[in-house]
Amino acid sequence: MRILTGCQVTSDQFHLGNYFGAVKPFHDMCLAHPEAEKFLFVANMHSLNKVQDGSLRRNALNTLKLYLACGIDPDDVFIYNQADIPAHAQLERVLGCITHMWFMERMHAYKAAIDQGKASDIGVGTFTYPILMAADILLYDATHVPTGQDQKQHVEYTRDIAGKFNNMFGETFILPESIISESVGTIPGIDGRKMSKSYNNYIGMLDEGKDLMKKIKKIPTSLEPIEAPKDPDTCNVYAITRLFLTPDEDRELRAKYTDGGLSFKRAKDYLYEKVTALLTPIQEKYHTISDEQIVDMLAQNKNKANAIAQAKINDVYQKIGFTI
Ligand code: AMP
Repeated sequence: MRILTGCQVTSDQFHLGNYFGAVKPFHDMCLAHPEAEKFLFVANMHSLNKVQDGSLRRNALNTLKLYLACGIDPDDVFIYNQADIPAHAQLERVLGCITHMWFMERMHAYKAAIDQGKASDIGVGTFTYPILMAADILLYDATHVPTGQDQKQHVEYTRDIAGKFNNMFGETFILPESIISESVGTIPGIDGRKMSKSYNNYIGMLDEGKDLMKKIKKIPTSLEPIEAPKDPDTCNVYAITRLFLTPDEDRELRAKYTDGGLSFKRAKDYLYEKVTALLTPIQEKYHTISDEQIVDMLAQNKNKANAIAQAKINDVYQKIGFTI
């Protein structure tokens, strides 16, 4: 079993959507499968699609610190920098050559750009994003890929293209499974759309105090009076709060909604309490980790990551006839 996941570094921190959608499920899986090999990376080559002002290094350092602060054990999990490994780009090229345009045109990021009338404004790298993601996964023979719901289609493409390559050139790639927590699903942001750095609607892992409260206060709520019974399933405050709750706490909170008497101010204060309880220890640990520690860890892991990825790309090059 090989578990692999990664986050982009499109801002100076990741957010609760990344945490509950990918980092926590990855961490939980690592704990449940001590025998498995575990791979975690920063997807800076993907992030270049959006961040082109030189801040990728700072963002990556912060993200890597946050991985550790969230409890990822670098002695158990192999942590690396995607851009340190040329084989990602090499395999992306190979897979791109055997992928049809019509297949990429079905991918949701591109379709969303078409729907917004922005298809020709996106970078070519955004269009080919799923191909690089397939390379990220296939290079390491990952068997299990914990991701948020939004990446399901990309892991399906990864399986398709791996199968196609295997049929064309002989068994080379393992077909990975996506691990998506149905109970988590897609985590909404403070405006109700998917929590995302692009929409700037996120609660970040480093948010605290007044800034955090300000974001929570912005969550739109209905105009029902305090005493009115309310439907938790249509309330965005509940949709975020539920992620933090034990089953008993969840039952209790739902009852408070449906019984009436719960003010949205109280619901938001409760959310603030829950977010703070999760994030305070993570933030404390985060501040104890130095840039140097991260740079050293990546330097140590670079050779091993290259050795694994290079072995796979050598095999691919041999099979397709690049090796002369
Ligand atoms: P990204 O920032 O797109 O690289 O996302 C890293 C991981 O977090 C991927 O597995 C995503 O599916 C997951 N993720 C990002 N945003 C959300 C969200 N709002 N809800 C659930 N998972 C998410």
